[in-house]
Amino acid sequence: MPNDLSQIGCTNTPVLKQRGQHEVFCGLTSIIWLHRKMHDAFFLVVGSRTCAHLLQSAAGVMIFAEPRFATAILEETDLAGMADAHAELERTVAELLSRRPDIKRLFLVGSCPSEVIKIDLATMAKKLSEKYDNRVNVVNFSGSGIETTFTQGEDACLEAVIRDLPQTDQTQLAVLGALPDVVQDQMLRLLSDMGLENVLVLPHARADTPAAVGPNTHFICAQPFLGAAHDEMVRRGAKPIAAPFPFGAQGTTAWLAAIAKRFGVDDATLQAAIAAPKARAEQAIATVAKTLVGRSIFFFPDSQLEIPLARFLSQECGMHLTEVGTPYIHRALVGPDLDALPSDIILSEGQDVDKQLDRVLDCNPDLTVCGLGLANPLEAQGLRTKWAIELVFSPIHFYEQAADLAGLFARPLLRADLLKVGKVA
Ligand code: SF4
Repeated sequence: MPNDLSQIGCTNTPVLKQRGQHEVFCGLTSIIWLHRKMHDAFFLVVGSRTCAHLLQSAAGVMIFAEPRFATAILEETDLAGMADAHAELERTVAELLSRRPDIKRLFLVGSCPSEVIKIDLATMAKKLSEKYDNRVNVVNFSGSGIETTFTQGEDACLEAVIRDLPQTDQTQLAVLGALPDVVQDQMLRLLSDMGLENVLVLPHARADTPAAVGPNTHFICAQPFLGAAHDEMVRRGAKPIAAPFPFGAQGTTAWLAAIAKRFGVDDATLQAAIAAPKARAEQAIATVAKTLVGRSIFFFPDSQLEIPLARFLSQECGMHLTEVGTPYIHRALVGPDLDALPSDIILSEGQDVDKQLDRVLDCNPDLTVCGLGLANPLEAQGLRTKWAIELVFSPIHFYEQAADLAGLFARPLLRADLLKVGKVA
């Protein structure tokens, strides 16, 4: 199993680019995890009944006493241009804010229908921000599913948040990406043990959390799907830190080492901070990897986590990569992970789903990572599958989650092995 990030690499591997029908969820899905991270925010989707149904089913049809997302449903009169959608929306927002004084940030979230009939949510957000000045910050972003994938909802939201942040000259580290609270706490502890206390995490939990960016902000992404947020930080003058993503023991170590290098943390301090959790992670991964080593895996493009996860599974778990498909390749973000992938894989960007289904059946991998819509048909054809969306909803970053991450891929294989044994018996 190669363990040196510089030994291999597929940076120059030709990319198979295909466009056609694609099978992904839309960006509204990300509201499900974003609303948990932003405690005083409300997400108002301007969309259709389909959008409302998607949100409800993605949220597990939870009924909240005080929900923090909702859909302002566009009726036929709005879609036909017979009603003034802007006035309707202003009225809906006024009702919402009068009932909910706890809302400090209101996100107007665009959808396919609102974009098709060209509702100008940017102007609406500006107008409403002025109207509710000092009380509610109104921002817009698009969660539309037209030509996008579901993790782009977080990216678009974060880009809008960053655009609105004040300027600062303070030297600080910023970490981009919504992580489960327990994982974020572990990350902040590791950074604190390295002597880094002034850490801004975006998106920030509350509107009154001090948050600003500027030329002395050094930032690193914790999620690989934040291309637009990354580019917005660069536009604001902040300096990116490139590193493999913090999946597994090696990925986490490389991610922390890149931060340490930028902030001049000496090696002894870094090693003292990471030695114990790193050893624990390596040991725990080794146990789970027994099921994964030598098994083949195929990634359909879905979450944009594909390239860093392929790096982890190949480099730390000994899996054999066949095709690694991803919706977009943002080289400034995933370049260090690409450097560590074997050069003989098929690297594909975008999707023509019928052609990709032919390829997966041809190569007959041990495990296929794909969207919910493809999983059952592929299982029926005898393939073992893992839902890509589960990887976004599960805590998978940093040392303490490394074995759980490997376990997410091992479980379907173990189940298949047990079923085979059962069949023989
Ligand atoms: S935003 Fe578009 S893709 Fe998403 S639920 Fe609404 S109509 Fe469907």
